[in-house]
Amino acid sequence: MDHLYFQVPHIPLSRIGTFLHDVYGVTGQLKVIPAERDLNIHIARPEGNLLLKLLPPEEGREAAEPLAGVLQHIERVAPDLPVPRVYLSVSQTPVTTLEWHGQTYCAVLLSWLPGRILAEVALSHELLQSLGRLLAQLGMAMRGYMHPAVPSRHLVWNMMTADHLLQSSGVLGSQSDVASARMILEGFKSEIKPRLARLRSQIIHGDVHPYNALVNVDGKLSGIIDFGDMIYGALVLDPANMIADCLMGVAEIEPVFTHILRGYGTVTPLEEEERELVVDLVAVRLVTSEIITKQRQASGHGNPASLTEVTSFHRLQANRTRLIEAVTGSKRCAASNADMLTRRKAAMGGKPLLFYDPPLHIVKGEGVWLTASDGKRYFDCYNNVPHVGHAHPAIADAVAKQMRQLSTNTRYLTDESIAYAERLKATLDPSLDTVIFVNSGSEANDVAIRMAKVWTGNSGAICMDFAYHGVTEATDAISPSNYPAGKWQVPHVRLLEAPDGYRGAVKHGAADFVGHYAASADKAAAALAASGVGVAIGIIDSAFMTNGILDVPRGYVLSIVEKIRAAGGLFIADEVQSGFGRMGTAMWGHQHHGLVPDFVTIGKPAGNGFPVGVIITRGEILERFTSETGPFFSTFGGNNAACAAGVAVLDVIKQEGLQSRALATGHELRNNLRSLMQQHEIIGEVRGVGLATGVELVRNRLTLEPANTETRQLLNLIRDEGVLVGSDGKLGNVLKLRPPLAFDAEHVPIVTNAIDRALFRLKTGAF
Ligand code: PMP
Repeated sequence: MDHLYFQVPHIPLSRIGTFLHDVYGVTGQLKVIPAERDLNIHIARPEGNLLLKLLPPEEGREAAEPLAGVLQHIERVAPDLPVPRVYLSVSQTPVTTLEWHGQTYCAVLLSWLPGRILAEVALSHELLQSLGRLLAQLGMAMRGYMHPAVPSRHLVWNMMTADHLLQSSGVLGSQSDVASARMILEGFKSEIKPRLARLRSQIIHGDVHPYNALVNVDGKLSGIIDFGDMIYGALVLDPANMIADCLMGVAEIEPVFTHILRGYGTVTPLEEEERELVVDLVAVRLVTSEIITKQRQASGHGNPASLTEVTSFHRLQANRTRLIEAVTGSKRCAASNADMLTRRKAAMGGKPLLFYDPPLHIVKGEGVWLTASDGKRYFDCYNNVPHVGHAHPAIADAVAKQMRQLSTNTRYLTDESIAYAERLKATLDPSLDTVIFVNSGSEANDVAIRMAKVWTGNSGAICMDFAYHGVTEATDAISPSNYPAGKWQVPHVRLLEAPDGYRGAVKHGAADFVGHYAASADKAAAALAASGVGVAIGIIDSAFMTNGILDVPRGYVLSIVEKIRAAGGLFIADEVQSGFGRMGTAMWGHQHHGLVPDFVTIGKPAGNGFPVGVIITRGEILERFTSETGPFFSTFGGNNAACAAGVAVLDVIKQEGLQSRALATGHELRNNLRSLMQQHEIIGEVRGVGLATGVELVRNRLTLEPANTETRQLLNLIRDEGVLVGSDGKLGNVLKLRPPLAFDAEHVPIVTNAIDRALFRLKTGAF
C-alpha cells in the first residue's frame, strides 16, 4: 500500500480530550499540528507540553510499536540524545488505542521538544558539523534496536527501493528533468542498489531533513523528531538524506557534504564503500523528493514544503566527480587512469588513440549504458559494435555455449556457419548467393578487392573523399581519412567528390545534385583508364559516416554504381557502418539506396562484439577467384562461436523489432536536436537516417566556418553530462551520434538534454 495517500484522521478535539484524560490522565489545551498522515495534537500544559500522535487506522500497531519502541530504546541507551520521550498511559503502556466511528486509531503520546525547525535558520559550517555528529549519535543509539515490522513496511520514502519511482518520473514534467531523473534512478537500480545491500544496515530514522531537526534560541541543535518513516536500511542513508535536503538554495554545495560528513565521522567514520556512494545517494534522494512532492501536489494530497529544487540534481550531476573526490578524500580514479595511461603508452605505443580527455576507463556495459571505474554511468550514443546493446545476454549465451562445446573452422561441416550463411543470404537479393567468412571489416573489404581484381582484370579503385575502409594495405589505400590533411596520395585510387549538400558545391535539393556529384565517378574512371590500371572496384559506405553522415537523394549511389560498372569495375557496398537495420528503412544500406551491389562487406556490428567479418557476392565471382588463385580459407573466419553470435544478432534484431525502432527513434532524435537550433546558433545542420545522425557545428551559419575546436571541447562537455558521442567529418566539426540499436524513444531526451546543457556551458564558458 502506498503510505503517501492515507487520509489524516479526522477526530473532534473534544473526543481526543476525553481520551487523553481517561487513558493518560492528561489535560491541557489541544491544537492540531498539520502533518502528512498522522493526526498530531499539541497539548499545552504548565508541567510540560506534549504531542499526541494518532496514526491512520491502516497503519495500526505495526507502525505505532516501533515508533514508541525506538524512542524508549534511545532513552535507555543514549539518555542525552534530544529525541522525544514516550509518555506512558495510566496502565503503563506506550501504545494505546482510541475508538472513533467504528475505527481503531493507535496512539503514542510524546514529550514536545522545544525549538525552531532547522529549515528556518542559516546553515553555518559549524551547524552542519553538529548536525552530522548528532545523526551519527542517533544511528549509534538505534543500532541495537529491532522490531520485526520495520523491514517489511512499505514506504515511498524508502531509499532502499527508490527505483520504484522510475515509473512515476513523468510527473516531473519537463523532458529534461524526466530524463535526468530516469538516468539517476536507472543508475540506482543497476549500480547502487546491489552495493547498498552489502553495507552495514540497521533500523534508521529514514527521513532526517531540516524540517525534522530543531534548533534552540542559541542556534544550537536541540532535537531530532518524527520517527514515522523509519526503515531498515543502510546506515549511510541518513547522512545522505540530510545532505540532500540541506542543499536547497545553497550556493556552494561542496561544504554541505564535507561538513556534515566531517561531523558524522567524529562519531562513526564512514566505511570506504559508504563514502564512495554518498554523492550518488544524495542525487537519488533529490530525485525521490522531487517526484514525491510533485506526485502529492498533482493528486491534491497535502502540500508539504518542497525540500528540493530540480536544478539541484542537475547541479549535483555536473559536479559529481569533484564531490566524490572531496568526500572520498582521494583522486583515486584520476590517479589510477593516469597510471593506466602511462602503462598503456609503455606497453602499447606512445601516441594512443583515445576518446575523451581525460580518457575513460569503462568497466561494464549493459544495453545502452556504460559504467566507468569511478562508478559513473554513461549513456552510450556512440558505439555501433554492441549493435543490439552492450552485453546482450542472448549473444553472450550463444558465444559461451559454443566456446564450451566446440571451436573449429570451416574446413569441417559446422551447423553454425551454414545456418549463418543461409540467414544472411535470406536478407539479400538472390544474386548475392555466396557467403565468405573472415574476421573484420578490413579483411572483408580486402578480400573483396582481391576478388574484383581477378574478375575485372583491373587494379584501380574509386572511393569517396575522406572515406574509411580498413587497415590492411589495400583498404588503407582507399581510406583517405587515415591520413593527415594533404598526405593521402595513392596512384591507383581516385576519389569521388563528397555529395555534401550543406557545404559542397551543389546544395541540397538542387536539380543537378546527382548529376554533379556522380560526375566525379566518370572523371575518376577516366583518370584510372588513362593511367593504365582501369577500374577494379568502386566502394561506398552507405551511411557516409566519416564524411559526417551525409543526406543524399535516392539515385545518387545508384548512379555511381552504374558508372563504375560502365567502366568495367565491380561495386562493393561497405555495410560495416550501415548494415543490420541501422538505417531503419532497410536491413542494409545499399537497399536503402535502392541498388544491388556486387559485394556486400560486413564487420563491426555483426557479432555484437565478437569478431565477425563477411563478404557476400555472386557464386561466379568466388569461383573465378578460387580457380585462379587457389582455395580460400580463413582460420577463424566462420568459426562456430562467431557464427553463433551472428545468428543471435539477427534473431535479436527481429525479435526486438530493432530496425523499425531505429527508424522511428532516429527521426525523433533528429527532430529534438533540430529544435535545439533555435537556442544554439552553433548547430548548422542536423542530418542522417535511422540511428546514424550527424550534427554539423559552425561558427557562422552564413560562412559555415567549421567549429572544430568547439566540437572537440563539446565531446568532453557532453561526456561530463553523462552521454558519450563522437565526432567525424573532414573538417572535424560534426558530432556523430551512432548508438546501439537498443536506443529507444525514452532515451532521446537523455541525449538531447545533455547536448543542450553542454552547448549552454560551451557558450557561457562554464567548464
Ligand atoms: N569499413 C567501414 C565503413 C568501417 O567503418 C570500418 C571500421 N570502422 C571498416 C571498414 C574496418 O573494419 P574493421 O575495423 O573491423 O577492420
